[in-house]
Amino acid sequence: AKAGGGNNFQIYTPGMYSNSYKKLFMENALRTSIENNELILEYQPQVDAKTRKIVGVEALIRWNHPQLGLVSPAEFIPLSEETGFIVPLGEWVLREACKQNKRWQDAGYPPINISVNLSSKQFSQENLAADVSKILEETGLAPEFLDLEITESMMMDVNHSIHVLKELHALGIQISIDDFGTGYSSLNYLKRFSIHRLKIDRTFVQDITNSSSDASIVETIITMAHNLGLGVIAEGVESEEQLKYLINKNCDEFQGYLFSKPLSAERLEQQFLK
Ligand code: C2E
Ligand code: CA
Ligand code: CA
Ligand code: CA
Repeated sequence: AKAGGGNNFQIYTPGMYSNSYKKLFMENALRTSIENNELILEYQPQVDAKTRKIVGVEALIRWNHPQLGLVSPAEFIPLSEETGFIVPLGEWVLREACKQNKRWQDAGYPPINISVNLSSKQFSQENLAADVSKILEETGLAPEFLDLEITESMMMDVNHSIHVLKELHALGIQISIDDFGTGYSSLNYLKRFSIHRLKIDRTFVQDITNSSSDASIVETIITMAHNLGLGVIAEGVESEEQLKYLINKNCDEFQGYLFSKPLSAERLEQQFLK
């Protein structure tokens, strides 16, 4: 039901309205989030197993709305997918992330990769590769320092995926499969996809130390990745025990609270690049 009447939802007081009102309010507020500078990116370090040094960061979006407060991407990303706002939003994220990485390189820090999450709607856009190419040119970031994270569930249309991934590969960027192990594993197709890295979902990492089946899934993913010539990164690493297991199984990279939470650009620079 429309609360307040009309199409202009300007006022929001938490707890006063139904969920459907909140949803409408959010949809509307999202549309102006870019121009109102309410979106920011945080960066979570990805650490190399051998050197223990930072080799990349994952860009994670944050939305800080004056009335809604800090809204979780788990809430507004699916909503943006529904409304189509994800396309301009995704483009904003990609541009910001590339710009920031180039800024760090220009400041003289050792070059790192930047990982950017793609949504399924972006992945099915015909002009994705052209858009990525345009943003790389515009920001001056060399393609090898950009990594796009896609999920298995986006790759259900195998022929389309092969086509898009080939185009992205031709640009010289990297591709990771996010949340690996949780979707319909198109294992048969994995070697036909032009990808570089598997990212083990954190639900498996979480239970490594108390579930033998999760531990063996993780081990299998690492072995399989290496057999296919792919790199493998574990996400959601929170404990020394998990890290020990992953090192022992030759996982290449780690990301998780054990190393750092997602940080603002300034804090990442201070804590990891300087
Ligand atoms: P994701 O891509 O799987 O991102 C990892 C999530 O795990 C992030 O949550 C991160 O903060 C959290 N995380 C990192 N380390 C740990 C850990 O050690 N333990 C635990 N429990 N969690 C950890 P966040 O930032 O809330 O993002 C949630 C999801 O929202 C992301 O999941 C991704 O699917 C989506 N998302 C975030 N930013 C973007 C974006 O720019 N574009 C798109 N399309 N989706 C995004
Ligand atoms: Ca991700
Ligand atoms: Ca993930
Ligand atoms: Ca996820």
